[in-house]
Amino acid sequence: MMRIDIATLFPDMCEQVLAESIIGRAEKKGAVETHCHQIRDYTLNRQKQTDDYPYGGGPGKVLYAQPVKDCCLHVIGECEAAGRPRPHIVFLTAAGKTYTEEDAKRLAACDSLLLVCGHYEGIDERVIEDMADEEISIGDYVLTGGELAALVVADSVLRLQPGVLASPEGYEKESYWDGLLEYPQYTRPEEWEGRKVPEVLLSGNHKKIEEWRKEQSLERTRKRRPDLYEKIRREQ
Ligand code: SAM
Repeated sequence: MMRIDIATLFPDMCEQVLAESIIGRAEKKGAVETHCHQIRDYTLNRQKQTDDYPYGGGPGKVLYAQPVKDCCLHVIGECEAAGRPRPHIVFLTAAGKTYTEEDAKRLAACDSLLLVCGHYEGIDERVIEDMADEEISIGDYVLTGGELAALVVADSVLRLQPGVLASPEGYEKESYWDGLLEYPQYTRPEEWEGRKVPEVLLSGNHKKIEEWRKEQSLERTRKRRPDLYEKIRREQ
């Protein structure tokens, strides 16, 4: 069963999100395990200060290396005590590699994952060099902290674990899994505000439905994500 740890200055925020809905239910039935750790608990100064002014000047403050490393070492120790290998350590940074479903699939194969969240202006580079197996950005924009990014990674990885979704079909048919965007979905009623569900979906002809969905998927990808469409064409 996969274990994900999050090192953060806002563990309550992460715990609240992970306790909800599909991931929360999966954890309750023992399909996955998550833990959130307060980086501040690992500070060595009396004021429990976690950050300081950047060398060289500039706005904002930078997280100290020491509490971040000690928090990581604590998680590594917990994993070892639980008979697990060293967790794969990911630092969430705006300058990391942009996250995709391919990364989610790759990380989903890890026994355990430690996600480290920065805040303020970021984290002292030396602890990233020392501890990170990789740096991940969830997109080309800047967040105030790594918590939302860590939750995005945790959610996308945990939903791929056995026992989290009702069946693997739940993720294998979705956008990005095979490099394409998903076809449009409809539910009852058959007509809503003058808009009808496409006839073919009411036909009961599974072969035709499959063909229609494949076409829609290709067409959507071509129009909305020409970069993905070209990649698929090159690989075929
Ligand atoms: N000074 C940093 C820069 O310009 O690259 C941005 C720091 S940001 C205000 C604070 C924290 O939010 C970062 O340390 C990181 O953990 C997180 N963060 C911000 N944007 C992110 C993104 N796109 N993906 C992942 N984490 C992000």
